[in-house]
Amino acid sequence: MTSQYYSGSVYSSLAIATAMTCAFFQSPNLARGDVNAVHPAPAAAHHITAGTTPEAALKELQDGNARFTKGTVKHSHQDEARRKELTLGQKPQTIILSCSDSRVSPEVVFDQGLGDVFVIRVAGNILGAAQVASIEYAVEHLGTRLILVMGHESCGAVTAAAKTPPDKTAGSPDLDTLVSSIRPSFDGLTQLEFNSALEDKKLSKLVNLNVNYVAKRLVERSAIVRHAVESGNVKVARGVYQLESGIVQINGSSESDPHSPARVLAGEKH
Ligand SMILES: [Zn+2]
Repeated sequence: MTSQYYSGSVYSSLAIATAMTCAFFQSPNLARGDVNAVHPAPAAAHHITAGTTPEAALKELQDGNARFTKGTVKHSHQDEARRKELTLGQKPQTIILSCSDSRVSPEVVFDQGLGDVFVIRVAGNILGAAQVASIEYAVEHLGTRLILVMGHESCGAVTAAAKTPPDKTAGSPDLDTLVSSIRPSFDGLTQLEFNSALEDKKLSKLVNLNVNYVAKRLVERSAIVRHAVESGNVKVARGVYQLESGIVQINGSSESDPHSPARVLAGEKH
């Protein structure tokens, strides 16, 4: 990403930072690399949830999202019995890396309960050391079979990355680090394509590019994830949440689409 992508329109880094609807957080335990302090190792975790396949884990999410959009949520696994069951440990089927945006809560939009999904949330659903370590922990120790990288329409972090020129600050050194990690997502676009993508209020193209980039980078960066994918134990899927409909569009939806779930789950590289 170079400055050639920017039209030179007036912008305010403060306004961009303020406009970002995503919350920022950092786990002090993860920052120290003390992963076990955050996620205690499960005891007898195999009693919690029966083994599943990546395909079944994806179907569970899609079924839950269908219930959410139709208003037929079950709110299962949210009672005293489940809490008691989970004192023995956790065995979530799916890892979800999503944005911190308050409108995009994975457990809500997929109608999941306690112990069902291992969720990592960070503005722009980016990959940093803490996010990768969290995913690696769940892959290695919790037996998760599916990793879903989920972005959403009108993402403030993606907006900031697109509208903050590389030679300008997004508001602070840490904000600069965040937007810098998103910018490479746009590298394949021509200036014309980039300008056109910016005109879309939902930023659909740029959000999709970021999700695809993060999913690809995760497998490249993490040997643990890469080995799990190559062995067929874990699959990586990508999705984008639509704010108004509540639908999570798993990239894409047809067999002819190179990003169809079936092809993604087959482990094809993109
Ligand atoms: Zn966002």
